[in-house]
Amino acid sequence: MNIKPIFTKKDRPIVIAGPCSAESEEQVLTTAKALAQQNIDLFRAGIWKPRTRPGSFEGVGRIGLKWLQKVKSETGLKVTTEVANKDHVFEALKHGIDVLWLGARTTVNPFSVQEVADALEGTQVPVMIKNPINPDLKLWMGAIERIYNAGIEHIAVIHRGFSHHGDTGYRNVPRWQIPIELKRQFPNLEIICDNSHICGRRDILKDVAQKAMDLNFDGLMTETHPDPDNAWSDAMQQITPKVFGELVDDLVLRTSTTDDVLFSETLVHLRSEIDEIDTELINILGRRMEIADKIGLFKKDNNIPILQTTRWNEILEKQVSKGQKVGLSEAFMSILLRAVHQESINHQAEVMNKAQLEDLKKG
Ligand code: PEP
Ligand code: MN
Repeated sequence: MNIKPIFTKKDRPIVIAGPCSAESEEQVLTTAKALAQQNIDLFRAGIWKPRTRPGSFEGVGRIGLKWLQKVKSETGLKVTTEVANKDHVFEALKHGIDVLWLGARTTVNPFSVQEVADALEGTQVPVMIKNPINPDLKLWMGAIERIYNAGIEHIAVIHRGFSHHGDTGYRNVPRWQIPIELKRQFPNLEIICDNSHICGRRDILKDVAQKAMDLNFDGLMTETHPDPDNAWSDAMQQITPKVFGELVDDLVLRTSTTDDVLFSETLVHLRSEIDEIDTELINILGRRMEIADKIGLFKKDNNIPILQTTRWNEILEKQVSKGQKVGLSEAFMSILLRAVHQESINHQAEVMNKAQLEDLKKG
């Protein structure tokens, strides 16, 4: 594949900004005018919004395309919007939208990607492809291939994080190793970090943007709104154009050699795997304690003491040997299991005492 860049390379990151959704002509133009002063590369606004549940604001539709045309004529900025089916593509092209993007909920579905690809055939409009919702690199690559096979040469990708189970502090976990691997396989591909959808909240937008720069990403896509708290979608993660300008100014840009980048990419790859595993471990331990609580109540109701040595010996024996099979020493397994067991006992004791106290109160 001979993928060509969408943006002309500068000695600073590519910057894409604009509201999550176009809400009104005024909101779109106010945001665009403020961002035009910051020399951004591309103005974004969602017109058709894929919302997780019906009833949320689903975008203003076609009328928003007229507002984007106005952004072009009044500010000179280039504009982009999300397309998810052939009608979106036709409408967007008819209105002179400069760049199209595929959202995470589209990339996940090869039927939709193919429909968009078919509609793009014969055009040369640049396309940005967000990662699929689930951490599946092949699905992401498949979408790139479908769009490329339709004759589109100017393609970039947007990393917006991945869906996950349990609380990680992110709206979508970054799993940096996946975009890094994509870059390794397609070295010419420009890669943009959508810190807004990774973070889901304002306070960590800057850290994630900086991390993307440290990993040699080509640019940022950040949702900006003149009145973020009152945005009709994704209010918690949007920032004003002014705050966005400060965020970009504060970024520390790498001047490292390729070797340094490779070293830090590998390290980040491995560390992010460890972080994810640690998070999973903690979530699993939390779930184990929830079950211990249930057992505590059950034992109390049936008047059974907390500690049952036979059961405990059984666990020790069984799990130590399982641990050894995956390279964990007997000494480590014994410390780990004892600590987990002790925490379970504490949990059970607490729920039993609490329940007993309540029984006493009831008399
Ligand atoms: C968006 O960019 O507003 C959007 C809907 O993003 P995603 O497809 O990443 O969820
Ligand atoms: Mn959004």
